[in-house]
This record gives sequence, structure tokens and C-alpha cells, in this order.
Amino acid sequence: MIDADFGKFGGSSTQGRRPPQFPGNVRSKALSSDLLRNGPAAPLLVGSGSMPIVLTLVWTGLFGAAIGSFLNVCIYRLPRECMSLVWPGSRCPKCLRPIRWFDNVPILSWVLLGGRCRACKSPISIRYPFIELLTGCLFAFAAWHQLFRAPLSSVAASLALADRTLLFLVYAYLLAALIVSTFIDFDFRIIPDQITLSGAYLAPVVAALFPVVHADAAAGFQALAARLFENGSSAHALFANPRVAAVLSSLFGMLCGGGLIYAMGVFGKILFRKEAMGFGDVKYMCLLGGFMGWKAALLILALACLFGAGFGIFIKLFTRDPYIAFGPYLSLGALCLLFWQAEIVEFLFTTWPAWSGGLLRAGPGGGPGPGGS
Ligand SMILES: [Zn+2]
Repeated sequence: MIDADFGKFGGSSTQGRRPPQFPGNVRSKALSSDLLRNGPAAPLLVGSGSMPIVLTLVWTGLFGAAIGSFLNVCIYRLPRECMSLVWPGSRCPKCLRPIRWFDNVPILSWVLLGGRCRACKSPISIRYPFIELLTGCLFAFAAWHQLFRAPLSSVAASLALADRTLLFLVYAYLLAALIVSTFIDFDFRIIPDQITLSGAYLAPVVAALFPVVHADAAAGFQALAARLFENGSSAHALFANPRVAAVLSSLFGMLCGGGLIYAMGVFGKILFRKEAMGFGDVKYMCLLGGFMGWKAALLILALACLFGAGFGIFIKLFTRDPYIAFGPYLSLGALCLLFWQAEIVEFLFTTWPAWSGGLLRAGPGGGPGPGGS
């Protein structure tokens, strides 16, 4: 899906588009949709004209916080397999008394009750409001990223509002999956199949229904097909179909993500003579690769290894835990890729080679000091 956002940032994305004109009091729906159609130009959150954007982000944030409240339920109940997600309703884990609706308002109720159950006064973990706040912030950021960011990446700028809204919904789904997987993996060292397998099955279906999710990667598959098959042949016509190309992109993403981490697990088992990678991580990468495409899958794995090495040493210093959950690092990598794939690719393949090349040219004596050239 990020593939749809893969284009490099550039000034060209806003060229040819009329910057929105904001009158003093902007509240009408018509104007806000006009703003969305034409895309915002430079400074966004300034003056009264920013009202539709602020309102959209506030509503998305509140929606996210409500979803976060449901994610708390998922995080608690999914690993405890005997519990249904919908029944019984929310209840205090200590006294088991049902939590009434006015004590179940995201973030606010926890603050008003001072972090304690109204009935038995036992403390309620700060993690509940934290997850609600986190989900709200990430949803609002995803909405800004897909709808209002200026300049939009060249690919995103070419998409209609409906497509960008659809991409936001896919982002929202993935963010929810990332949050639930991360916290369950922290607590139980598993990532439930209800998240990973259902997501992996869903990914190619979403690709077939909404090819825009894989727009950029699918273009790559179509270009490859143009080289392999004769123009006008039935094979060429099949690959030229954007839905077929998007499904191929999704399946290849799954294969790359799941296959590579499985290979890492096998290699690690030979090297360390113990289980190095859980099969839950393999299924989790199938989900991420299936939605985000093969390029993102490779980069997620690379970033997760980097984060794992960095934070892993830190965690080892403070805990005696021989096992470190890899899921949270995969989630962190996926989060970075969701929002900054273009920048990460730019850094890895342009900025970094230029910088390190410059260092190499300066010679082994060091940087461009007085002795260097
Ligand atoms: Zn209680």
C-alpha cells in the first residue's frame, strides 16, 4: 500500500493546482471538499482557513481513541482464547463488575476516576488510556498524511479524494493490527492467528478490490510483463489488468516478507542451536508484506533487525530474559515504512551512498580535515 506513496517528494506534486482560498469563516462542507479536491498548498494549519483540516483531524483522533478502546479489549481477550471479543461487555479485571458506559469513555474516564475502578477502587493500568491516546494520535496522523500533507508525494497527489480516503482506511486497519500485535507479543510472546492469518487472507482480496493500494508496485509488475510478453498477447493483457497486477504485488509481498523471515529463523536455528524466530513472526510478515508490498517487506525486516540490535542490547542489560520478542520491532519498522517510505528509500539509496562515498574518497585517514582533500 505504501507503494502507492512510493514516489519521491517534489515540488511538482502541487504544480498546476490552485491554492485554496479561505474566506474568514470556513465551516461549509462544500468548501472543505473543495479543499480536498484541489489539495492544500503551503502552510496548512494557519488562520481560520485551517478549520476543516483541524476538525477532520480532531474527529479522526476521537474515532481512533474509540477504536483504541476496542483494541484494549482485543489485547486482553485475544490471547485468552476462551473469551469472546463482544461478550461479556467490559468489566473490571479485579472485581468483575461491569463497567458502565460513562466510565468507559476513552482516556477521559480513566483521568476522571483517577486510574481506579469506581466499584472496588483497585488501580487500572495506565496502559489502557495510553493505547487509546496512541491509536487516536496515529489515526489523526494517518489522516493528515493521506489527505492534507503538502506536498503530497507525486503518486498520492495523482489520486482522487476517494482513493486517498480508502488508503487512510487501510492505514487505520494496519495501525490497529500493529498496535494489537505489539502489545500481545510484549505480554504473551505470541501474535494470534486471528490477526496475522486473517490479515494475510484479506490482503490479496483488498488488492483485487482496490488496486490503488498497490498502485506503484503493480506498475512495476506491468512493466515487467511488457518486457516478458509480446504486446497484444493474452498474457500481456492479463498482466496489464491493474487488479491482477495488484494481487500479484500482494502475493509477492507475502512471499518476500514471510519467506525471508522464515529463512532467517532456519539460519538462526542452525547458528544458535535453538529456536530463533517464532512462526507467528512469519505469519505477521505475510500480513505486512501482503498489504505493503515486497519493497516495504524487505525494508521492514532490515529496520526491525537494526532496532532489535539497538534496543535488544539495552533490554538485555536490564532483564535476564533470554528471549526477546521480535514482533514489536517488526511493528516499529512497519510504522516507519507506513509514513516515511519515500524518505527512507531516499536516505538508503541516495543520501547515504553519497555521504559514505564522500568519506571513502576522503581516504582512510578520516574525514575532510586539513589532511584530506
Ligand atoms: Zn473493580
